Amino acid sequence: MMRLRNLMEDAVFQAIKDTLKEYDYCDCEKCQLDIAAISLNQLPPRYVVTDKGDSYARADFLDLQNYLDVLSTVISAAKTVANRPHHK
Ligand SMILES: [Zn+2]
Repeated sequence: MMRLRNLMEDAVFQAIKDTLKEYDYCDCEKCQLDIAAISLNQLPPRYVVTDKGDSYARADFLDLQNYLDVLSTVISAAKTVANRPHHK
């Protein structure tokens, strides 16, 4: 089945994992999704058509420089969420 996939979404979730490994932010599902939403609203989408479900070539991902941009956006989103978490 063909479907649309936003590679930026994968990059953002990877960057969130890397950020939470490195920094001491809350890693609950709510905070991770808040970080993802803030980041994805700031970054340009990278849609591709895929017919292989999740097994598309990871080489298609993003190049390193783009990934570093994603990472810095995610880190600042994580700070925003940490300052105003949607929970106690
Ligand atoms: Zn949290």
